[in-house]
Amino acid sequence: FYTTTSAIPGVRERTLIAVKPDGVQRRLVGQIVQRFEQRGFKLVGLKMVKAPEELLSQHYHDLRKKPFYPSLLRYMHSGPVVAMVWEGHNVVRTSRLMVGDTNPAEALPGTVRGDFSIHISRNVIHASDSVQGAQREIQLWFNCTELLDWDCCDHRNTYQL
Ligand code: UDP
Ligand code: MG
Repeated sequence: FYTTTSAIPGVRERTLIAVKPDGVQRRLVGQIVQRFEQRGFKLVGLKMVKAPEELLSQHYHDLRKKPFYPSLLRYMHSGPVVAMVWEGHNVVRTSRLMVGDTNPAEALPGTVRGDFSIHISRNVIHASDSVQGAQREIQLWFNCTELLDWDCCDHRNTYQL
């Protein structure tokens, strides 16, 4: 048996979630944080930043050749972003499902994008798309002193201990 939830295999998986400038402007931060909390994930880091262009170009490095890349960087740099690291079993995959399709027109109701957005250029939220990608992005956005290891006393009701 396990004495703490963090010992359960897979429970330490982490992902980067960011409320983009449009989501911050529209005061959606609270509702978005609430969705991840109520699902049962553990918040291990959170900060508001005006992301430097250097950080954004590294973050979206794979998209640098896309036609929408310059406007994507302008949008992401247009105002504060609320960056968060969430931890839990399968958090990368589950949070992509909670966030919904990249194109809000395809995002199902009940997802963040499906409930709060209309156009792909203003889709409110970022979520890492793989465990490896998440590790890379978390290192870009946070230094290790900004990520807290803590035992959530409610986790007996989330995992089998
Ligand atoms: N994006 C855009 N136009 C497109 C495709 C993507 O403006 O045709 C933006 C959108 O904000 C998206 C981001 O670029 O969230 C990153 O694209 P990606 O394919 O990684 O989608 P995501 O992982 O965010 O769902
Ligand atoms: Mg992506």
